[in-house]
Amino acid sequence: MYLRIDKLQIELPAAPYPDPAAAAAVQDLLGGRFGEMSTLMNYTYQSFNMRGRDAIRPFYELVASIAAEELGHIELVSATINSLLTGATGEGDPSSAPLKGAAGAPNRDQFLNRGNASLVAGAMNAPWQGDYVFNSGELVLDLLHNFFLESGARMGKARVYEMTDNPTARHMIGYLLVRGGVHQVAYAKALEEITGVSVTKMLPIPRIENSKFPDTKRFEEQGMHHKLYSFSPADYKNLAAIWHGPHPYGDGDVEVVSGTPEGGPQVDLPAQPSNFAPGYDPGELAEIAARLMRHM
Ligand code: MN
Ligand code: MN
Repeated sequence: MYLRIDKLQIELPAAPYPDPAAAAAVQDLLGGRFGEMSTLMNYTYQSFNMRGRDAIRPFYELVASIAAEELGHIELVSATINSLLTGATGEGDPSSAPLKGAAGAPNRDQFLNRGNASLVAGAMNAPWQGDYVFNSGELVLDLLHNFFLESGARMGKARVYEMTDNPTARHMIGYLLVRGGVHQVAYAKALEEITGVSVTKMLPIPRIENSKFPDTKRFEEQGMHHKLYSFSPADYKNLAAIWHGPHPYGDGDVEVVSGTPEGGPQVDLPAQPSNFAPGYDPGELAEIAARLMRHM
């Protein structure tokens, strides 16, 4: 079962200006073929479906705990897109066409079918699909797929980083590059333990170091590139069977952390009344909520 914590995995600075172009590009990191929905659902279903898991506990726990982290990644990428879309529509009565600017936005669906918000789709609006999940049931094949998936995901992050200089998008991508790097190494180490093949020698894929992306620095300074979190208050105690020893990049030892990252506050973005989010008269809804909470 799941425990939900009303925080983001990191502190996310508000977007300094509306940026629909960045929001459309970042959308690929959420619902594209190699986006966070894919990593989330691949590891989630692999963990749900793993047979004989008690006998192969460390491998089960690795996939299960990374799946939990990915759930927080879709939350974080959504928060980033929503922040980038805040203020991207105008204000005023419907007769003044306040959404006119959105008619030319690179992803109109973020406005038409959401209230300036994220979609479960890629940059060109292809819906995320269950076909993106690979789960053969054969452990080595699934781990090899996960290594490939994290590598494709890292390529996507690098490209979106190069596509936008928006500081909020880059801050978030810096974090994802660091965490995806951990997952790449984790699946490589797991494959090495089973097969003896030096999979970590293939890293990094793509062949560029995190240091070339300056927004990774603040997270690496916190040692996040070495940490694998259990994402559970008490369970998944066998991660260190795989996640131990020197990091392949030679900058210290890796480390298992029981629980979650400290995280940052949940983001409360302002209402976008002209797009009816959360309503055309948000003040009225707030009064109703205040009245309800007086009974508590
Ligand atoms: Mn991720
Ligand atoms: Mn990942």
